[in-house]
Amino acid sequence: MPQFRKVLSIQAGQPTSDGAGVKLTRVFGGPGIEAFDPFLMLDEFGSENPDEYIAGFPPHPHRGFETVTYMLEGRMRHEDHMGNVGLLQGGGVQWMTAARGVIHSEMPEQEEGAMRGFQLWLNLPAKSKMGDAGYDDIQPERIPRITTQNGVDVVVIAGQFDDGQTSQPGAVQRPDTEPQYFDFHMPAGSHISPRVADGHRVLLYVYEGEVEIAGQPQKLGTSRLARLSESGEIQLSTQTGARVLLIAGKPLGEPIVQYGPFVMNSREEIEQALRDFRDDKLTA
Ligand code: FE
Repeated sequence: MPQFRKVLSIQAGQPTSDGAGVKLTRVFGGPGIEAFDPFLMLDEFGSENPDEYIAGFPPHPHRGFETVTYMLEGRMRHEDHMGNVGLLQGGGVQWMTAARGVIHSEMPEQEEGAMRGFQLWLNLPAKSKMGDAGYDDIQPERIPRITTQNGVDVVVIAGQFDDGQTSQPGAVQRPDTEPQYFDFHMPAGSHISPRVADGHRVLLYVYEGEVEIAGQPQKLGTSRLARLSESGEIQLSTQTGARVLLIAGKPLGEPIVQYGPFVMNSREEIEQALRDFRDDKLTA
Protein backbone atom coordinates (compact mmCIF):
# COMPACT_ATOMS: atom_id res chain seq x y z
CA MET A 1 0.00 0.00 0.00
CA PRO A 2 1.52 3.34 -0.94
CA GLN A 3 1.64 5.98 1.75
CA PHE A 4 -0.60 8.81 0.55
CA ARG A 5 -0.34 12.42 1.58
CA LYS A 6 -3.10 13.37 4.03
CA VAL A 7 -5.55 16.21 3.57
CA LEU A 8 -4.72 18.78 6.26
CA SER A 9 -7.51 21.22 5.45
CA ILE A 10 -10.25 21.95 2.93
CA GLN A 11 -11.60 25.41 2.34
CA ALA A 12 -13.98 27.23 0.02
CA GLY A 13 -13.05 30.46 -1.73
CA GLN A 14 -14.52 33.72 -0.43
CA PRO A 15 -16.18 36.26 -2.73
CA THR A 16 -14.40 39.62 -2.72
CA SER A 17 -13.47 42.45 -5.05
CA ASP A 18 -10.16 44.04 -5.89
CA GLY A 19 -8.61 46.55 -8.28
CA ALA A 20 -11.25 49.07 -9.40
CA GLY A 21 -14.10 46.73 -8.42
CA VAL A 22 -13.41 43.43 -10.15
CA LYS A 23 -15.48 40.63 -8.62
CA LEU A 24 -13.39 37.62 -7.75
CA THR A 25 -13.05 34.62 -5.46
CA ARG A 26 -10.16 34.59 -2.99
CA VAL A 27 -9.32 30.90 -2.79
CA PHE A 28 -6.69 31.52 -0.12
CA GLY A 29 -4.72 34.45 1.25
CA GLY A 30 -4.54 36.66 4.33
CA PRO A 31 -4.12 35.65 8.00
CA GLY A 32 -2.53 32.23 8.54
CA ILE A 33 -0.76 32.36 5.19
CA GLU A 34 2.33 30.66 6.72
CA ALA A 35 0.46 27.35 6.27
CA PHE A 36 0.63 27.95 2.48
CA ASP A 37 4.33 28.95 2.34
CA PRO A 38 5.79 29.61 -0.32
CA PHE A 39 2.42 30.76 -1.74
CA LEU A 40 0.70 33.93 -0.61
CA MET A 41 -2.61 34.09 -2.43
CA LEU A 42 -4.78 32.54 -5.12
CA ASP A 43 -7.62 34.48 -6.74
CA GLU A 44 -10.06 33.04 -9.26
CA PHE A 45 -11.87 35.42 -11.57
CA GLY A 46 -14.67 34.30 -13.82
CA SER A 47 -17.57 36.25 -15.20
CA GLU A 48 -19.60 36.66 -18.36
CA ASN A 49 -20.87 40.01 -17.09
CA PRO A 50 -18.56 42.88 -18.16
CA ASP A 51 -19.81 45.02 -15.23
CA GLU A 52 -17.94 42.59 -12.96
CA TYR A 53 -14.54 42.93 -14.65
CA ILE A 54 -14.45 45.95 -16.98
CA ALA A 55 -12.93 48.36 -14.43
CA GLY A 56 -9.82 46.16 -14.29
CA PHE A 57 -6.76 46.85 -12.18
CA PRO A 58 -5.48 50.40 -12.84
CA PRO A 59 -1.82 51.19 -11.98
CA HIS A 60 -0.78 49.69 -8.65
CA PRO A 61 2.49 48.57 -6.98
CA HIS A 62 3.93 45.24 -5.87
CA ARG A 63 7.11 44.42 -3.93
CA GLY A 64 8.70 41.25 -2.59
CA PHE A 65 7.10 38.38 -4.53
CA GLU A 66 5.98 37.07 -7.94
CA THR A 67 2.53 37.16 -9.56
CA VAL A 68 1.47 34.39 -11.92
CA THR A 69 -1.65 35.07 -13.97
CA TYR A 70 -3.15 32.15 -15.89
CA MET A 71 -5.93 33.09 -18.28
CA LEU A 72 -8.49 30.49 -19.32
CA GLU A 73 -10.66 32.86 -21.35
CA GLY A 74 -10.63 36.53 -22.23
CA ARG A 75 -7.96 39.12 -22.90
CA MET A 76 -6.09 41.31 -20.45
CA ARG A 77 -3.59 44.06 -21.31
CA HIS A 78 -0.57 44.49 -19.04
CA GLU A 79 1.54 47.66 -18.93
CA ASP A 80 4.31 48.39 -16.44
CA HIS A 81 6.89 50.99 -15.44
CA MET A 82 9.62 49.07 -17.34
CA GLY A 83 7.76 49.76 -20.57
CA ASN A 84 6.51 46.21 -21.02
CA VAL A 85 3.20 45.89 -22.80
CA GLY A 86 1.65 42.47 -23.11
CA LEU A 87 -1.61 40.93 -24.13
CA LEU A 88 -2.56 38.00 -21.96
CA GLN A 89 -4.97 35.68 -23.75
CA GLY A 90 -6.83 32.44 -23.10
CA GLY A 91 -4.33 29.65 -22.34
CA GLY A 92 -1.51 32.12 -21.69
CA VAL A 93 0.43 32.95 -18.54
CA GLN A 94 2.06 36.11 -17.31
CA TRP A 95 4.90 35.50 -14.87
CA MET A 96 5.91 38.75 -13.18
CA THR A 97 8.71 39.00 -10.67
CA ALA A 98 7.96 42.16 -8.71
CA ALA A 99 11.10 41.86 -6.55
CA ARG A 100 12.00 45.40 -5.35
CA GLY A 101 9.16 46.96 -7.24
CA VAL A 102 6.77 46.95 -10.13
CA ILE A 103 4.02 49.41 -10.91
CA HIS A 104 1.63 48.02 -13.45
CA SER A 105 -1.92 47.91 -14.70
CA GLU A 106 -3.94 44.91 -15.76
CA MET A 107 -6.93 45.96 -17.86
CA PRO A 108 -9.51 43.87 -19.74
CA GLU A 109 -9.18 44.25 -23.50
CA GLN A 110 -12.75 43.25 -24.25
CA GLU A 111 -16.11 44.84 -23.61
CA GLU A 112 -18.16 41.67 -23.60
CA GLY A 113 -17.88 37.92 -23.26
CA ALA A 114 -16.30 35.75 -20.63
CA MET A 115 -13.19 36.59 -18.61
CA ARG A 116 -11.84 33.68 -16.63
CA GLY A 117 -8.56 32.77 -14.97
CA PHE A 118 -6.41 32.73 -11.87
CA GLN A 119 -3.79 34.87 -10.20
CA LEU A 120 -1.31 33.16 -7.88
CA TRP A 121 1.17 34.99 -5.65
CA LEU A 122 4.46 33.20 -5.04
CA ASN A 123 6.82 34.49 -2.37
CA LEU A 124 10.48 35.32 -3.04
CA PRO A 125 13.26 34.38 -0.61
CA ALA A 126 14.64 37.24 1.49
CA LYS A 127 17.82 37.36 -0.65
CA SER A 128 15.76 38.07 -3.82
CA LYS A 129 13.08 40.45 -2.53
CA MET A 130 15.10 43.54 -3.45
CA GLY A 131 16.45 42.08 -6.71
CA ASP A 132 15.59 43.24 -10.22
CA ALA A 133 12.02 43.12 -11.43
CA GLY A 134 11.20 40.92 -14.41
CA TYR A 135 8.35 39.96 -16.60
CA ASP A 136 7.56 37.11 -18.99
CA ASP A 137 4.52 37.10 -21.24
CA ILE A 138 4.08 33.42 -22.04
CA GLN A 139 1.84 32.83 -25.03
CA PRO A 140 -0.18 29.58 -25.11
CA GLU A 141 2.13 27.96 -27.73
CA ARG A 142 5.02 28.09 -25.23
CA ILE A 143 3.14 26.13 -22.56
CA PRO A 144 3.50 22.34 -22.91
CA ARG A 145 0.25 20.34 -23.00
CA ILE A 146 0.50 16.60 -22.72
CA THR A 147 -1.92 13.70 -22.37
CA THR A 148 -1.05 11.02 -19.82
CA GLN A 149 -1.48 7.30 -20.48
CA ASN A 150 -4.64 7.54 -18.37
CA GLY A 151 -6.14 10.17 -20.68
CA VAL A 152 -5.68 13.27 -18.53
CA ASP A 153 -4.66 16.44 -20.37
CA VAL A 154 -2.05 18.36 -18.41
CA VAL A 155 -1.11 21.99 -18.96
CA VAL A 156 2.45 22.14 -17.59
CA ILE A 157 2.87 25.76 -16.56
CA ALA A 158 5.81 25.42 -14.15
CA GLY A 159 8.17 22.81 -12.76
CA GLN A 160 8.43 19.21 -13.87
CA PHE A 161 5.35 17.06 -14.41
CA ASP A 162 6.02 13.37 -13.77
CA ASP A 163 3.53 10.57 -13.08
CA GLY A 164 6.05 7.73 -13.36
CA GLN A 165 5.20 7.18 -17.04
CA THR A 166 5.30 10.62 -18.63
CA SER A 167 7.71 13.39 -17.72
CA GLN A 168 7.51 16.94 -19.04
CA PRO A 169 9.21 20.19 -18.01
CA GLY A 170 6.91 23.19 -17.79
CA ALA A 171 7.24 26.62 -19.42
CA VAL A 172 8.80 28.14 -16.29
CA GLN A 173 11.45 26.87 -13.87
CA ARG A 174 12.21 28.92 -10.75
CA PRO A 175 14.95 28.47 -8.13
CA ASP A 176 14.50 28.39 -4.33
CA THR A 177 10.76 27.64 -4.21
CA GLU A 178 10.88 25.19 -7.18
CA PRO A 179 7.19 25.73 -7.98
CA GLN A 180 5.08 23.18 -9.84
CA TYR A 181 1.91 24.52 -11.41
CA PHE A 182 -0.30 22.17 -13.45
CA ASP A 183 -3.84 22.36 -14.81
CA PHE A 184 -5.40 18.87 -15.08
CA HIS A 185 -8.32 18.31 -17.44
CA MET A 186 -9.65 14.98 -16.22
CA PRO A 187 -12.29 13.14 -18.22
CA ALA A 188 -14.92 11.10 -16.34
CA GLY A 189 -13.43 7.86 -14.99
CA SER A 190 -9.79 9.01 -15.22
CA HIS A 191 -7.04 9.20 -12.63
CA ILE A 192 -3.64 10.80 -12.23
CA SER A 193 -0.68 10.36 -9.86
CA PRO A 194 1.51 13.47 -10.04
CA ARG A 195 4.85 13.31 -8.23
CA VAL A 196 5.90 16.05 -5.84
CA ALA A 197 9.12 16.07 -3.79
CA ASP A 198 8.81 15.28 -0.09
CA GLY A 199 8.81 18.43 2.01
CA HIS A 200 7.10 20.51 -0.66
CA ARG A 201 3.73 22.14 -0.04
CA VAL A 202 0.87 20.76 -2.16
CA LEU A 203 -2.40 22.59 -2.86
CA LEU A 204 -5.22 21.22 -5.03
CA TYR A 205 -8.00 23.44 -6.31
CA VAL A 206 -11.00 21.97 -8.13
CA TYR A 207 -12.58 24.52 -10.48
CA GLU A 208 -14.94 22.15 -12.30
CA GLY A 209 -16.46 18.83 -11.25
CA GLU A 210 -15.17 16.86 -8.27
CA VAL A 211 -12.27 14.54 -7.48
CA GLU A 212 -11.46 11.81 -5.01
CA ILE A 213 -8.09 12.14 -3.28
CA ALA A 214 -6.68 8.71 -2.42
CA GLY A 215 -6.66 8.19 1.34
CA GLN A 216 -9.31 10.86 1.93
CA PRO A 217 -12.92 9.82 2.69
CA GLN A 218 -14.77 12.85 1.25
CA LYS A 219 -14.68 14.05 -2.35
CA LEU A 220 -13.22 17.45 -3.11
CA GLY A 221 -15.97 19.45 -4.84
CA THR A 222 -16.01 22.46 -7.15
CA SER A 223 -14.43 25.66 -5.76
CA ARG A 224 -12.74 23.74 -2.93
CA LEU A 225 -9.05 23.90 -2.05
CA ALA A 226 -7.24 21.06 -0.27
CA ARG A 227 -3.89 21.42 1.47
CA LEU A 228 -1.93 18.18 1.71
CA SER A 229 0.65 16.89 4.19
CA GLU A 230 4.39 17.12 3.54
CA SER A 231 5.19 13.67 2.24
CA GLY A 232 3.71 10.67 0.48
CA GLU A 233 2.10 9.96 -2.86
CA ILE A 234 -0.80 11.74 -4.51
CA GLN A 235 -3.54 10.07 -6.52
CA LEU A 236 -6.60 11.84 -7.87
CA SER A 237 -9.53 10.18 -9.59
CA THR A 238 -12.86 11.44 -10.82
CA GLN A 239 -16.18 9.89 -11.75
CA THR A 240 -17.78 13.10 -12.99
CA GLY A 241 -14.82 14.58 -14.84
CA ALA A 242 -12.96 17.52 -13.31
CA ARG A 243 -10.59 20.39 -13.88
CA VAL A 244 -8.05 20.75 -11.11
CA LEU A 245 -5.04 22.98 -10.42
CA LEU A 246 -2.07 21.43 -8.62
CA ILE A 247 0.17 24.05 -7.06
CA ALA A 248 3.27 22.87 -5.18
CA GLY A 249 6.51 24.40 -3.96
CA LYS A 250 9.28 24.31 -1.41
CA PRO A 251 8.43 26.33 1.71
CA LEU A 252 10.83 29.20 2.44
CA GLY A 253 10.44 29.07 6.23
CA GLU A 254 11.09 32.83 6.53
CA PRO A 255 8.94 35.41 8.35
CA ILE A 256 6.10 36.81 6.21
CA VAL A 257 4.94 40.38 6.78
CA GLN A 258 2.29 41.54 4.31
CA TYR A 259 0.74 44.93 3.81
CA GLY A 260 -1.54 44.75 0.77
CA PRO A 261 0.67 44.43 -2.33
CA PHE A 262 3.95 44.49 -0.35
CA VAL A 263 5.23 41.23 1.15
CA MET A 264 8.50 41.41 3.08
CA ASN A 265 10.17 39.74 6.08
CA SER A 266 9.84 42.53 8.67
CA ARG A 267 7.69 45.49 9.69
CA GLU A 268 10.64 47.85 8.96
CA GLU A 269 10.90 46.60 5.37
CA ILE A 270 7.16 47.22 4.90
CA GLU A 271 7.54 50.77 6.24
CA GLN A 272 10.44 51.25 3.82
CA ALA A 273 8.26 50.00 0.94
CA LEU A 274 5.50 52.48 1.88
CA ARG A 275 8.04 55.33 2.04
CA ASP A 276 9.61 54.30 -1.28
CA PHE A 277 6.17 54.15 -2.92
CA ARG A 278 5.20 57.57 -1.52
CA ASP A 279 8.54 59.07 -2.65
CA ASP A 280 8.28 57.50 -6.12
CA LYS A 281 11.32 55.27 -5.43
CA LEU A 282 9.65 51.86 -5.29
CA THR A 283 11.06 50.79 -8.65
CA ALA A 284 14.30 52.81 -8.48
FE1 FE B 1 -0.98 43.49 -9.97
